[in-house]
Amino acid sequence: MRIVRVALDVPLSTLFDYYVAENMPVVAGQRVVVPFGHRQVVGVVMELAASSDFAATRIKEVVQVLNDVSPLPAEMLKLLRFCSDYYHHPVGMTVLSALPTRLRNPQAVVLKQALTYSLSDSGKALDLDQLPKRKQVQLRILRALQEGSLSAAQIKAISATAPAALKQLIEAGWVEAGEASAPCAKFTFNEEHRLTAEQQAAVDAVNRAQGFAAFLLHGITGSGKTEVYVHLLQQILQRGGQVLLLVPEINLTPQLEYYFRSRFPDTELVSLHSGLNEGERTQNWLLAQSGRARIILGTRLAVFTPLPNLALIIVDEEHDASFKQQDGLHYSARDVAIFRANARAVPIVLGSATPSLESYYNAKSGRYTLLKLTERASQLAQLPSVRCINISNELMPEGISQQLLSALGERLLRGEQSLVFINRRGYAPVLMCTACGWLSGCPNCAGKMVLHLKDRRLRCHHCGHQTRVPPACPSCGNADLQPVGIGTQRIETALQAHFPDARILRVDRDSTRNKGTWNAMRKQIQDEAVDILVGTQMLAKGHDFHNLTLVCVLSPDSALYSGDFRASEKLFAQLAQVSGRAGRGDKPGEVLVQTAFPEHPLFRALRAHDYDAWAATLLTEREQAGFPPFVYQVLLRCEGKQEAEVYEFMRQARSAATGLVMQVEVYGVVAAAMPRRANHIRVQLLVQSDARKSLQQFLRKWQPLLEAIPAKQLRWSVDVDPLEF
Ligand SMILES: [Zn+2]
Ligand SMILES: [Zn+2]
Repeated sequence: MRIVRVALDVPLSTLFDYYVAENMPVVAGQRVVVPFGHRQVVGVVMELAASSDFAATRIKEVVQVLNDVSPLPAEMLKLLRFCSDYYHHPVGMTVLSALPTRLRNPQAVVLKQALTYSLSDSGKALDLDQLPKRKQVQLRILRALQEGSLSAAQIKAISATAPAALKQLIEAGWVEAGEASAPCAKFTFNEEHRLTAEQQAAVDAVNRAQGFAAFLLHGITGSGKTEVYVHLLQQILQRGGQVLLLVPEINLTPQLEYYFRSRFPDTELVSLHSGLNEGERTQNWLLAQSGRARIILGTRLAVFTPLPNLALIIVDEEHDASFKQQDGLHYSARDVAIFRANARAVPIVLGSATPSLESYYNAKSGRYTLLKLTERASQLAQLPSVRCINISNELMPEGISQQLLSALGERLLRGEQSLVFINRRGYAPVLMCTACGWLSGCPNCAGKMVLHLKDRRLRCHHCGHQTRVPPACPSCGNADLQPVGIGTQRIETALQAHFPDARILRVDRDSTRNKGTWNAMRKQIQDEAVDILVGTQMLAKGHDFHNLTLVCVLSPDSALYSGDFRASEKLFAQLAQVSGRAGRGDKPGEVLVQTAFPEHPLFRALRAHDYDAWAATLLTEREQAGFPPFVYQVLLRCEGKQEAEVYEFMRQARSAATGLVMQVEVYGVVAAAMPRRANHIRVQLLVQSDARKSLQQFLRKWQPLLEAIPAKQLRWSVDVDPLEF
């Protein structure tokens, strides 16, 4: 009797046993179609067995073994089991969520043939000098094709917009696609930059690593971490290995993608992120899994891609909170990447200008090797000078101080760009009645609705609820309603009134909602068709605008005294990132921070560009207060519409926890930071321990007790190593 244990996408922490017919060959890691309830579903075979604990009559038979894709390798099955176990998420849901959606269906998927592109007869007959000069990218592709046919990867390396231009050339009938005869065996590396001594030392250290080794590459903004990555890639690619490069945001992937393509024009590179459609994602996944794609550039979900020749993992901006998934499997892609590198015995590089305290602590205590880049890569580029503007006694109806206005005015005169950073979109965070004090609260949440003046609406940024701006106070009828506080739209309006001739561009989630808008805006900034940028954290990361010399930070103070112990760590990272946008070219940069607390240690460290001092301060605080990285935490969250029901669940959960008497500290049940969202009451319970192992042992016993508590109308989840409270 042959039995397979199958992972299915159901919320139960178990595998399911099925018979396999004798004539049906099957191995672990293969996808199978099995009956489940009244449906047929796709699952993944996790193991084979000779017998089952269930009665023979209860076991059903595998309907079909899917052979379209090679089985998930043992390494992936082990990784996924580890994640299910560590994050206490049902094994089947963990395994299935790691696959592209198409592979969760029984329809066969095929890896498309690689194509090569060449000029058609009419394309060969073209006189390129007669074509319009503004079709620059099309012309560059046609010129390159005159030299011979090219692979898709080689064409994409010509320009970031090459795929669109290629499509037009094919539609015009000038270029035709054919099947590639053999994969490109050529390896080209465009050596454009000389490494600094520090960069070279970092590259050498990683190259010397044998087997697993974790490196923290701590490089100030503009120090050229990407160039270190490029040189590491070169070594690996030359030896035939694959590199997994994880980045926090899909906003940054098109730029990075083009950058790496241009440096390795013959190497197949795929990106994996949520901005791709299902077809693209499946093809890219297959290219990676087959070993054909050698550079895999992706956001957190890419950490689960099977890579037969994986030789190096890089996690860029490792401190970024978006590596942590906030629903379903609450995993940290950075931490999973470290586990994976260890299991595969390959080196991993975590890069950041402002490392997470966890990683920094690991480096300081010798678990990771610390590599430092302390200089900007370009000799001309200096770190910006940072100054605080004390606003405690200044009246600023529009949120902008006089000093800041004059600094902006100077840049306008000199024809240089400025960035005004405020991490709040909309016009104002709340609308208030001047007579009775009514505030624009959201009917579904504990939060306030944000005023968006452009379309005269109030919007809740937590649940999406929106209404028109009321003509008068809904509470007392007074017609004088005033916006309170500042958001990006209000700053944009105020600056436009003050500098009527300035070209001002607002960049936030509202202004970049349509696909492609942000790319177009970035080009506008690079072409210097913008004088002042007003934006949120979208502008903080990774961008290199050469003529930008002034960064203004408007209202950072609320994070200093937030209840979230990570708020000030995040704020420093954000301000260091956004400050790093100033002075990347040959002109000196300046950063002005409006604050009522200029002597706060955070601002002192920011002025001195002294991450180490700041990290030391925070680590001391965390150690004294008993916070991570000195303890390990797990957060139980629960939400539901009935307050009594939510609290009853948590009461039972807590008493189950305290009843276990283990080496953990069980805190009280408290309301979440956002206690009501979308009409759901939200409550949480923190458990912590100074040993990871004790916490895991506790969780293994606690989880089944939690599952036994009645929770029909509730949603609850366990978040191991939570980042948000
Ligand atoms: Zn009123
Ligand atoms: Zn709401």
